Amino acid sequence: MKKFLSIMLAALMLVSAFCFVGCGKDDSKLTVYTEAGFAPYEFIYNGEVVGVDIEIVKAVAAELGKELIVKDVAFDTICTAVSSGKADIGAAGITIRADRAEQVDFSIPYSSTEQYVIVKTSDTTTKSLDDLKDKKIGIQQGTTSDMLIDGLIKDGTLGSATITPYTSPAVAAASIDKLDAVVTDKLTAQLIVANSDTLKAFPLVKADGTPAAEVEEYGIAVTKGNKELLDAVNKVLEKLIADGTVDKWVEEYSAKAQEVGA
Ligand code: GLN
Repeated sequence: MKKFLSIMLAALMLVSAFCFVGCGKDDSKLTVYTEAGFAPYEFIYNGEVVGVDIEIVKAVAAELGKELIVKDVAFDTICTAVSSGKADIGAAGITIRADRAEQVDFSIPYSSTEQYVIVKTSDTTTKSLDDLKDKKIGIQQGTTSDMLIDGLIKDGTLGSATITPYTSPAVAAASIDKLDAVVTDKLTAQLIVANSDTLKAFPLVKADGTPAAEVEEYGIAVTKGNKELLDAVNKVLEKLIADGTVDKWVEEYSAKAQEVGA
């Protein structure tokens, strides 16, 4: 029996050693995937990815004593990378949703948002969803804006409207001449139009003035089952939310984003 147990133990150790090498996972590093076109949560400033989410994951890395690696990737690949373990964390203003929670574990919420629409300042007719009927709408691929507009096209609400996907909301807004409107999250929309004479942004509402979609909350995505990491993220977030640091960062990085027109 003893011999059997020690053989089992040796086998187990061999398997874990192989996995350590084979999985290529370096435990001293915390790998975070983001998409740096989403101010003030992540954007490029002086050639570096900065923002509220980056500050949050810096605090998590410090808490764990790990080196932070930030990778700028397409938004719609982030949850898959976190799910496969290629990334430890996804931090990209990711709205907590039941379908995404099947793929990744979410932290406690740290910010909330609603859907906004960006149109040309000269557009005086677009006021509600009804006015987006049969129009060309730009969105960031794989986002909640994409899912919302896609659903409204499929259920007939938006008639023959079409979606044009972009890598970021700012890139979509820069292409407004080819579009009628861009739909994205509130703060990002407000920052995109802040420095523009030709663009304006307002909440996406139904014809009766009620919001077109429910309020959304952002969470940090963690590889499913990594309880230790999720607990650390939540511990850090609880403190940063309670002492007003997240709010302070939202202000600070909104100002920085405006400075560089992100
Ligand atoms: N909150 C939105 C989503 O999760 C958009 C996030 C983003 O564009 N970075 O889909």
